[in-house]
Amino acid sequence: MSTYGIDLGTTYSCIARLDSNGNPEVIRNNEDDSNTVASVVFFENENNVVVGQAAKENIETDGERVVQFVKRYIGKVDSRTYEFDGKTYTPVEISALILTRLKNLVEAQGGTVEDVVITVPAYFGLEERSATRQAGELAGLHVLSLINEPTAAALSYCARQFQEDRTILVYDLGGGTFDVTVVKMTMTQNDSGNDVQKITVLATGGDDRLGGFDWDDRLFNHILHVCCDENGLTPEEIEAETRQDIRSKVEEAKRKLSKKQSAKVRIDVNGSRTEITIKRAEFEQMTSDIVAKTMNFVDATLEKVPNVEIDTVLLVGGSTYMPMIINAVEAKFPGKVQQHDPDQAVAKGAAIYASMLVEEVDSLSEPGTEPSGETPARAEQLTSKFTVEDQTPRSFGPGVVDTNGAKHKYVLENFIKIGEKMPAVFTKTYYPLEDNQERVLLRAFENRSTDDTLIPCVDEEGNPQATDPAHNVKLLGELVVNLPPNTSRDTPIKVTFKVDASGVHVEAVNTKTNETFETFLRTDSDVDIERSAVHQLRISSD
Ligand code: ADP
Ligand code: MG
Repeated sequence: MSTYGIDLGTTYSCIARLDSNGNPEVIRNNEDDSNTVASVVFFENENNVVVGQAAKENIETDGERVVQFVKRYIGKVDSRTYEFDGKTYTPVEISALILTRLKNLVEAQGGTVEDVVITVPAYFGLEERSATRQAGELAGLHVLSLINEPTAAALSYCARQFQEDRTILVYDLGGGTFDVTVVKMTMTQNDSGNDVQKITVLATGGDDRLGGFDWDDRLFNHILHVCCDENGLTPEEIEAETRQDIRSKVEEAKRKLSKKQSAKVRIDVNGSRTEITIKRAEFEQMTSDIVAKTMNFVDATLEKVPNVEIDTVLLVGGSTYMPMIINAVEAKFPGKVQQHDPDQAVAKGAAIYASMLVEEVDSLSEPGTEPSGETPARAEQLTSKFTVEDQTPRSFGPGVVDTNGAKHKYVLENFIKIGEKMPAVFTKTYYPLEDNQERVLLRAFENRSTDDTLIPCVDEEGNPQATDPAHNVKLLGELVVNLPPNTSRDTPIKVTFKVDASGVHVEAVNTKTNETFETFLRTDSDVDIERSAVHQLRISSD
């Protein structure tokens, strides 16, 4: 089996597949003796780039050569780049290095990685999604699809125990981000009358700057201060090597405190050994405000769906191993909390989804063939058991000309609005602006507005700009629709936008000739738009 699910995390990444019995399993990272790989890259020199725990061990001593939290920058408009040994790396390229490391884990154990599903946060827009997909391709992976992280977690949970209708709150506390998602699982029947479990995202919330790292920081500062007090030093007098030593040990101590009531840390400060014992109760006290902060985000997210009753709370993310988190969530939702391999659930859900997709492709390409006795039929059973319904992360629509009124206005018509059920499809008929127009340049936009119509920012020539601060209007790309000679301005052109978790599919049909033009918009291709206002579609003004 060469189909894998990948959780490309802000701080840790994970790769999983289905085993021969159809159960999801994570590929061990034997080098770091872990189920995950730290999403950290160390550019030691031009010939050596290290990914994982070994990279992490250079953060304090060689920080300027270490890249971490790259997921925060992937696909962002004002994204940054990194430069090492005369080479420039984009967040996509750094992410590809992390993905390559995951691929290598499989290969080192004799496997091959071909088709993958990569997970993304539910709030990622199209550019972040495209960039993630591009990173996968750069790492030599065939990206079947992307899936939202909370949906993947819910999928791995319901693969464990088949559910009746219920509403699940996914509390995902990772290393650098905190995501709250309310998902609804419903039992419906498909066209063939089989039971199908549908997963619908109802609300999302959280903070992309809150995570396990905040707990590490508190512990780091605590240990640093004890080292100072015991040795009569100020924090500035503690050397970089000592800081690195503390940095390397806090995470380990934190993990120990999830299992035991106390943890010992030994630090060499200027040649003398300082031994510090941290009690779990003490650690919980110094971080109780951050726990409370996460619960406030839970409340804020629940306020978005006031009439919804939560049946189950699913704890996801490595930081939910901390008993203080389990206790806080349990106190708010008594008897409803579930936790199963929180640092692996997302990758496992992605693996389940990936195999569902491969089964679907196989059954489409070989109609009528039964799965052979050796092939685990589990994935195929899953295909008929799950459908995934997400929310659109942004609004999408074409830029067209409104000819009503004295002056022509270039407007954005929002076909599909942020928060709508996804996959989403919308079709509308437009007309060429003029008679004998040779072609139409159909522009597709993404934005955060819920208005039906927006007037995009336009430059002096009347052409739309790529960004608009108020509604975050972004030009995604352009579809060239060629028109035959003598096309009249009354020729209906049917425009369809289809949005799913992977991107936006735009189609235009000349209904006179039935000629179809289509494109899949992924913003990784540099949008190189001819700045001309003439070839447009118009809204029917009759
Ligand atoms: P990501 O943030 O990339 O989604 P994870 O969900 O794997 O990654 O979460 C990583 C965070 O979980 C890190 O801050 C890590 O220190 C923390 N973590 C992992 N295991 C434990 C544990 N046993 N106890 C406490 N924290 C843990
Ligand atoms: Mg995560």
